[in-house]
Amino acid sequence: MSQVREFKTESKQLLNLMINSIYTHKEIFLRELISNASDAIDKYHFLSLQDDSLKSDEDYKIEIELSKDDKTITIKDTGIGMTEEELVENLGTIAKSGTKSFLEKLKENSENINLDIIGQFGVGFYSAFMVSSKVVVKTKSPFSKDGFVWESSGEETYSIEKIDKKEHGTEITLYLRENSEEDEQYDQYVEEYKIKELVKKYSDYVRYPIMMEVTKQVPKEDKKDEYESITEVETLNSMIPIWKKSKAEITDEDLNQFYQYQFHDYEDPIKSIHMNVEGVLNYNALIFIPKKAPYDLYSEKYEKGLQLYSKGVFIMDKCKELVPDYLRFIKGLVDSPDLSLNISREMLQHSKQLNKIASNLEKKIKNELERMLKNNREDYIEFYKTYGVNIKYGVYDQFGAKKDLLKDLILFTSSKTKELTTLKEYVERMNEDQEFIYYASGQSIDQLDKLPQMELLKDKDYEVLYFTDDIDEFAIKMLMQYDEKKFKNITQGDLNLESKEEKKELEEKEKTYKKLLKYIKDSLKDKVSEVKLSSRLKDSAVCLVSKDDVSFEMEKVLSVMPGANQNIKAQRVLEINPNHQLFQALEALFEKDKKQIKQYADLLYSQALLIEGFKLEDPIEFSNKMCELMIKSSK
Ligand code: ADP
Repeated sequence: MSQVREFKTESKQLLNLMINSIYTHKEIFLRELISNASDAIDKYHFLSLQDDSLKSDEDYKIEIELSKDDKTITIKDTGIGMTEEELVENLGTIAKSGTKSFLEKLKENSENINLDIIGQFGVGFYSAFMVSSKVVVKTKSPFSKDGFVWESSGEETYSIEKIDKKEHGTEITLYLRENSEEDEQYDQYVEEYKIKELVKKYSDYVRYPIMMEVTKQVPKEDKKDEYESITEVETLNSMIPIWKKSKAEITDEDLNQFYQYQFHDYEDPIKSIHMNVEGVLNYNALIFIPKKAPYDLYSEKYEKGLQLYSKGVFIMDKCKELVPDYLRFIKGLVDSPDLSLNISREMLQHSKQLNKIASNLEKKIKNELERMLKNNREDYIEFYKTYGVNIKYGVYDQFGAKKDLLKDLILFTSSKTKELTTLKEYVERMNEDQEFIYYASGQSIDQLDKLPQMELLKDKDYEVLYFTDDIDEFAIKMLMQYDEKKFKNITQGDLNLESKEEKKELEEKEKTYKKLLKYIKDSLKDKVSEVKLSSRLKDSAVCLVSKDDVSFEMEKVLSVMPGANQNIKAQRVLEINPNHQLFQALEALFEKDKKQIKQYADLLYSQALLIEGFKLEDPIEFSNKMCELMIKSSK
């Protein structure tokens, strides 16, 4: 007796999408079904290694049968099959969280969604409904005495019925839809050449033979120039995993295809690296850098790692030992015959081979990135805009253990060109008398470019590197120097850029205005550690600089870290431009009405804070004082 059941809500949504989608790559249904078949055989094989009741020396295969008369295509496997409960669980609901989140996204944004992104999520079995009006699944699990048939036309319901099936495995028959003019020629999927083409394109490296009966024209034995058609079973796939092939055998297109399929992306990677290593250590590796960073790259849930295989057999999905933290965005796989199949997580950590492979991969990736920077700067910049933060983190992490490896891969924006530049390029361009590599740290290039502290450096024609990522200053502190040139923050300490005469002149002025400066300092109390005349300001009236140890940006970053120590503060020095009109106004006021200086001091300090991107402790008071002053000046 057939039992009719209803699909779960999410499944209905997905099916609806599959049936009505204008998705352009309907042909991927075959890849999805073959991949399920191959997984099912893997599962059977793994279980047979532990369970004596399952025969393991089976002749594993996937067969495809085409019927032009019925317009059907059938995919059979000798895998694990499904029990009745599994049929309900696996084909009646959506188990995969990726597909669920895809549907969520779709709901949020149903109009603008590009349906090509379906490919990204590998929607699996339901993709059969993109080309079929009915799907029939006959299956038997070795753990169930009966076989079952599941049937659905992809609407609200499906049915399940017991059938007589002896061998374990699954057989899926697709009843192809009628051709439609605007849409798709569905009957192409019963053509042998088309299926051959699709298997080669998407499933060539599947480990089990994909077999199909094909018709061939062969010359007749006795008569020349006459042909007869014969049918024979052919294995359509080469079964060699793409990563085992030699470089000459695979094209970039092959690698891109493989990447998109294996790692559920809908765009080509920025970079593919293919390694075949033989010697003391033997392994094949494929490394990909995705064009877009995974959306959860910086969340705690994100798991870094490469897939691990031994002799083409899958061991695990995310082997994290193969990837340093700062490269957590890479995808790919490693296949090594030197690794044992039933290696445990714990053993992996101590595996010498694995550590060696990991360090080889790291070096190779670094070299490839360097080459990209040298030969293909545009690509590198695209890479760097997405992943630069990670590389800088790599310089900083582990107390700078990787800083020498990575120092030539980091870029910063130049104050002169506003383009990204390497430290090497900066040093090559340094002025003859220039001692330091100058940098400024803040929220945006625009803000930094307008900093009062930049005035002197622009005046003297020094290039400054603009830091806008939180990690930047920390990475540079770890690096300490580049090519024996130390780094110097232009908003910290003394820059010592003035000439002897200028220095002397300033010292004179400091003496002359000692009282005024002291008065300002006293009225600001502990807010600043010093008030002094500035040698770095040209047009602006005031600025705030910090003393040499902790900088303002570091203070900001550290203060928002979890468990932050709020006592780590940059020491504030208020610098006043002695050549600014405002200073003359202060001077005059000091003679006339000392008390007012207090108010001015507060306002100056608040302005300097705002310029540095700090919040004011009391913005209302600031506003009131400004108003008072405006009223006064209008009288
Ligand atoms: P995925 O394969 O990515 O998990 P699918 O929607 O393609 O998602 O399939 C859902 C589940 O159905 C699979 O996880 C598997 O348990 C089961 N399944 C699909 N095809 C087969 C098959 N040929 N043999 C056995 N089980 C299968």
